[in-house]
Amino acid sequence: MPHHLSNIRAVIMDADGVLWRGDTPIDGASRWISHLQAQGIPYIIATNNSSKSPQEYQQKLERLQIARVTPEHIVSSGMVTASFLAREYPAGATVFVVGGDGLRELIAAAGMTLVTDEQPDVVVVGIDFALTYDKLRRASDFIRRGARFIGTNADRTFPLPEGPAPGAGSILALLQTATDVAPEVMGKPGRAMFETALAVMGAAAEHTLMIGDRMDTDILGAIDAGLMTALVLTGVDTRDTARTYPTQPDIITPDLNALLDTWLGVKS
Ligand SMILES: [Mg+2]
Repeated sequence: MPHHLSNIRAVIMDADGVLWRGDTPIDGASRWISHLQAQGIPYIIATNNSSKSPQEYQQKLERLQIARVTPEHIVSSGMVTASFLAREYPAGATVFVVGGDGLRELIAAAGMTLVTDEQPDVVVVGIDFALTYDKLRRASDFIRRGARFIGTNADRTFPLPEGPAPGAGSILALLQTATDVAPEVMGKPGRAMFETALAVMGAAAEHTLMIGDRMDTDILGAIDAGLMTALVLTGVDTRDTARTYPTQPDIITPDLNALLDTWLGVKS
């Protein structure tokens, strides 16, 4: 199994459950990124969480003393959603957003016009920590009247120190139930996230390792995109829950410390 690591030339890693849980850094995260930086190995932090802008992720990594990284090292489902909208719609197309300020900023920066009261072309839904019944009702009405329904990501939960909390996927499920319309989902396990990250690094899928804590998004999506995969057990999935999937990661490891020790053992 570890022989896969000797082929690694680039790394994509998830954030929630891999680098941190909520506002708590995970053991080994700082050491892991230091190693990548010292060795000059290209890396991308690819997060399905769409609530923050790349600059806010950069600040969080510094605040938690995990690493100093530039925003180019961060790809979020919000960025993938914004570039999708920019490709699919002319400037000024109208979007109603259920989500955080970071998501709203990315969509506005992509040339879209944010609206709250008029029928929009698109409803974009991500994690929203200020979610209200009024926002849900508007989103439901707009989708019923024909707005395109796009989800940044479908994670049902995300890891907090206290345990899993409802994620964007839970909000999508509510709106799907209310409208009988299924969302188009932009984030992992969809290919767009992986393809965006590989393009930024100029890396080949077969020489890139994806590290994640979720089988259903990080690992299955990366396998589908042709990457090597490592499941860390610091987030959502355990050895037991991972075993229930028909496709398995190349590596299952307790955390980034253990992964780095294995890698260094292989390389020396
Ligand atoms: Mg995660």
